[in-house]
Amino acid sequence: MRTVKASTASLKKAAALIRAGGIVAFPTETVYGLGADGLNPQACARIFEIKGRPRFDPLILHECTAARAKKLFSKIPAGAEKLMKKFWPGPLTLVLPKSRSVPEIVTSGLPTVAVRVPANAHALALIKAAGRPIAAPSANRFGRLSPTTAAHVKKQLGDGPDLILDGGATHIGVESTIITFTRGKPVLLRPGGLPLEEIEKIAGPACKPEKTGKKRPLAPGCLKKHYSPEARLVIIEPGVAIKPAAKAAYLAFSRKPAGTWAGVQVLSRGGDLREAAANLFSALHKLENSRARVIYAERVPAKGLGRAIMDRLRRASAV
Ligand code: AMP
Ligand code: MG
Repeated sequence: MRTVKASTASLKKAAALIRAGGIVAFPTETVYGLGADGLNPQACARIFEIKGRPRFDPLILHECTAARAKKLFSKIPAGAEKLMKKFWPGPLTLVLPKSRSVPEIVTSGLPTVAVRVPANAHALALIKAAGRPIAAPSANRFGRLSPTTAAHVKKQLGDGPDLILDGGATHIGVESTIITFTRGKPVLLRPGGLPLEEIEKIAGPACKPEKTGKKRPLAPGCLKKHYSPEARLVIIEPGVAIKPAAKAAYLAFSRKPAGTWAGVQVLSRGGDLREAAANLFSALHKLENSRARVIYAERVPAKGLGRAIMDRLRRASAV
């Protein structure tokens, strides 16, 4: 398996690999994706194998234009139409009734499909050249830290993908926001790179996901434990003082902590949530590479992109 810089020639090669049923890791604006032909069930099955991902966890299809993305849905509520127009390409995934062209393996047998148009020139060029939707979850082992560089992909997946396209560090750094619609109203399935506040301005107030009453949760892949570094992650509760230790690392929001730690990362010196989100996974990868057995993480304000950061930290800290 090779890592190659994204270029006209390597993108062409990558698209041919996708068309032939191969697996290509590629950059998007959120995190690196592990891509396969989204209309080829065998190719999609390899994604699950390489990631060690359970089959009940559906994939997101990536398209290069809203017009092509819409063909993957069988019904589009007016609110969803407005969101596509405003935020695509961008870090917004819509879950809507699927069209017949979408294979069962992509949706884990659900009647709905998750689709987005990524805002990354390499990703768009790859999808366009492949000429079909690309199914791509994050390019990491199931449940582990998401990759925001090609090196992160290599670290976790090694020789799994047929090719890794290196397009530099991702800009947004956390996964897409996932929205579905119930009775015409938006429902947040996963906070992510597009703040909920911006979505609500366009589509109205979001409702809480309804209890399905079935065993299956509404967003089956959003598990309590996820995004976990190898070291234990502990969120620092308000009023609790944490002492520096040789085997402890510290993830700060905006201010460096005092004392000597196995590793320290500051997400944003200016206290900017956008910058903090962009740095989140790379900071956790660095702390994971330190000798720390435990990573203490500060809370960030739970608004805007802070909601996605806290969601990832909470899941990373779950036991
Ligand atoms: P990722 O692993 O970041 O690509 O995230 C994909 C996530 O999207 C899954 O883990 C699910 O939580 C969610 N998802 C995908 N398809 C559906 C669907 N049809 N219905 C509900 N959630 C979905
Ligand atoms: Mg993931």
